[in-house]
Amino acid sequence: MSFFRDAFTARSAAVRVRFGAGVRRAVADEIDALGARRALILTTPHQAATADEFAACCGARTAGRFTGAAMHTPVDISEAATAYAREIGADVLVAVGGGSTTGLGKAIALRTDLPQIVVPTTYAGSEATGILGQTENGVKTTLTSPAVQPEVILYDAELVATLPVGLTVTSALNAMAHAAEGLYARDRSPLSSLMAVEGLRAFRDSLPAVIAAPADLPARSETLYGAWLCGTVLGQVGMALHHKLCHTLGGSFDLPHAETHAVVLPHAIAFNAAAVPDLLAPVAELFGGDDPGLGLWRFARESGAPMALRDLGLAEADLDRAADLATANPYWNPRPVTREGIRKLLRAAWAGDAPAAD
Ligand code: NAD
Repeated sequence: MSFFRDAFTARSAAVRVRFGAGVRRAVADEIDALGARRALILTTPHQAATADEFAACCGARTAGRFTGAAMHTPVDISEAATAYAREIGADVLVAVGGGSTTGLGKAIALRTDLPQIVVPTTYAGSEATGILGQTENGVKTTLTSPAVQPEVILYDAELVATLPVGLTVTSALNAMAHAAEGLYARDRSPLSSLMAVEGLRAFRDSLPAVIAAPADLPARSETLYGAWLCGTVLGQVGMALHHKLCHTLGGSFDLPHAETHAVVLPHAIAFNAAAVPDLLAPVAELFGGDDPGLGLWRFARESGAPMALRDLGLAEADLDRAADLATANPYWNPRPVTREGIRKLLRAAWAGDAPAAD
């Protein structure tokens, strides 16, 4: 298998990444290395105790804590957190948590240009991208800017060891979706494809071990390694049908983020495999069989992932509107997107059927 292309453009962000169990305790060194002195620590309300731990670890460098991060980065919360950052004279942000907390850090950075140290506790991958999704008046918009790209990432397996198994599985499939779609992105490079395949392999090998023993630190570490690679792919190349479907289902039907990715991924990949079987061959090879969608579907089922959109709260009567919305302003996709094809895909994902190969 070669990822060589005759012509490509590759882009990488300048990010410092540190890896290792316990590496979060080096956060004070990283603050010093940035030349900063007054850290604002960010978490969700649920992870407020982690904010306390980081505040103690940063000692005199802790200027304040804001523990109000919320899903989909609501603009009113970002404005309140930005006002607080200014009030306490923060000169660096330390975001500890999943995509929601990372999103809050990015939203403050966008408004203040403060540097960000991110300590991820899920596999969502936002820490490795210059992408920010924000919500205002129920409408989610996404922007891409170097201003929101975090400068430092600390991947510490001890922090993901507390991630409940259900969230572990859906978050892993969320990450794997970035890599799977990256393989057929128009703007892929040999490097992004190499990272995508290695990220998928890391999850394939380590997720079963983590499910069997959630506190297994070497296995947790390998899942974080997968998250870094998959997130980096997301930051480098454009996404297609799978992400469009998930944004539609999340934005218009309020379905939960990671769970929706978990259910839709095998169906979107099976749909696109009909057009680009060669580009998705590494997925089939990694997950068994000739059909990459079916391979992912079996992997998800064996991992105990949710398998049906109806179990996430989507009504059968919503399928027509979902198909209309998903095909109204389609993202570029390797296979032409038809309303009929998407309606069929969504029906199978809604019912929890195995993806159809056609
Ligand atoms: P999340 O950050 O919303 O976390 C879900 C819940 O799990 C929260 O209550 C959180 O406190 C808790 N939690 C997180 N880590 C934990 C741990 N180790 N132990 C126990 N509890 C823990 O969920 P997420 O899936 O990481 O992020 C989803 C959000 O991130 C969405 O808004 C999505 O759009 C965004 N996202 C953005 C990008 C990007 O590049 N901009 C990429 C991926 C996801």
